[in-house]
Amino acid sequence: MRTSEIAKRFQRYFERQGHLVVPSASLISPNPTTLFTIAGMVPFIPYLLGEQTPPSKRVTSNQKCVRTLDIDEVGKTTRHGTFFQMLGNFSFGDYFKEEAIHYAWDLLTTPQDKGGLGFDPDTLWVTTYTDDDEARRLWANEGMDPEHMEILGMEDNFWTTGGPGPGGPCSEIYVDRGPAYGKEGGPSADDNRYIEIWDLVFENYEVDNVKSKTDLHIVGELTNKNIDTGAGLERVAYLLQGKQNIYETDEVYPVIEAAERISGHKYGENEQDDVRFRVVADHVRSALMIMSDGVRPSNVGRGYVLRRLLRRTVRSMRMLGVNDPVLPTLMPVSKDAMALSYPELNDTFHDVSEAAYGEEDAFRRTLENGSTILDMAVSKAKESKDGMVSGKDAFALHDTYGFPIELTLEIAGEQGVPVDRAGFDGLMAEQKSRARADALKKRHNVDVSVYDDFKKTLDAPIDFTGYREYSSRAK
Ligand code: ATP
Repeated sequence: MRTSEIAKRFQRYFERQGHLVVPSASLISPNPTTLFTIAGMVPFIPYLLGEQTPPSKRVTSNQKCVRTLDIDEVGKTTRHGTFFQMLGNFSFGDYFKEEAIHYAWDLLTTPQDKGGLGFDPDTLWVTTYTDDDEARRLWANEGMDPEHMEILGMEDNFWTTGGPGPGGPCSEIYVDRGPAYGKEGGPSADDNRYIEIWDLVFENYEVDNVKSKTDLHIVGELTNKNIDTGAGLERVAYLLQGKQNIYETDEVYPVIEAAERISGHKYGENEQDDVRFRVVADHVRSALMIMSDGVRPSNVGRGYVLRRLLRRTVRSMRMLGVNDPVLPTLMPVSKDAMALSYPELNDTFHDVSEAAYGEEDAFRRTLENGSTILDMAVSKAKESKDGMVSGKDAFALHDTYGFPIELTLEIAGEQGVPVDRAGFDGLMAEQKSRARADALKKRHNVDVSVYDDFKKTLDAPIDFTGYREYSSRAK
């Protein structure tokens, strides 16, 4: 079953249960405190908080998401993308736990020829919150093997916004891929074997005094109880398509194939290369989707995340031996693979690709200017007493050759050589205070530099943890 078909089935199923199908919101988060939409519930926060009236008390969506928090996992685990799609069903003060559990079980286990997703019930596991006997009873009523239910505490299976407001237990659904993939014993025993596919959140409490995930005060029961669920479309797709990971599914794999063609390397022959192939396929797709929602590369906020994704793609392809431009080959392939689900990509592609190719050209020039100098700094470091690239060299690379420190850290790190980050930061601070002193002179001795700092705070990505806690409620 193609990924787009799975999404359609999910939405059709919930439509049959009286849900309004709501189109995906933009990847640009409607909430000013987060850069990207990180979960299906983000566009519905005002309804979940009871601040606005929803168009229907039951909605379902397939939300485009970007999670940069997971970037280091990409290509190494089987299940983390920077871009992914989150399917969900939501009840705003309408149905609650019993229906939510029933719908999930029914959709997952109904055979495919009868409109379901056709998972073997024996492969399903759930985690439930310590106090939530009701959820365990409901799962058992549906047919879930009681041996396949793990009980976890507040840290893992309780959700709050991170502040006063609604909160409640959650229950995560996992698929056991079988003994070939790791230790038996349930989700806590092996996260390569047991793959989390769907998280059901039962918002039934009002909480306050939330000091941490485990230190909060439950005020009482909410009058309007909500259901908020999120299922990872790519995870469901890879398991149903009999693939090994999300990068091998139909909407992602064509980019790996294109990267194979231009690099002459084969996917599946060597783990180090495979991670690079997967990073490329993931990042090209994320960049495409982010740009299609209007973001362009820059040095701040979303634009900087995008710049990093494009640069990591180019670098990973270099590690696969390709020094020529890669995006003109890879981006159209990703666009074609995604356009079935997102036909609007065809309209935005001309502008998106021009901006992406321009960014690749600029980055290639940066790499050409700085690479030899960095190689020399790394060789010098290998022979030095402390074995580190000096702060002075890292600073020169940044200052003279436009080599971002992250790139220096990454390239040196690949060769097992650390960088004197503190030394680099010290030199950066010195440069900043010199620039400030100069600016002071120019501005007739009036120190307005305080406004520069203020502006920087506005431009910098804001690390708001509330919704991250929401998104990683299950961790
Ligand atoms: P994990 O612990 O596996 O990283 P999570 O607990 O962060 O997942 P949730 O925040 O509960 O996941 O998100 C709901 C669902 O969205 C998950 O069950 C999963 O199927 C999917 N999902 C979450 N993060 C990603 C990601 N980076 N890539 C692909 N799918 C994801």
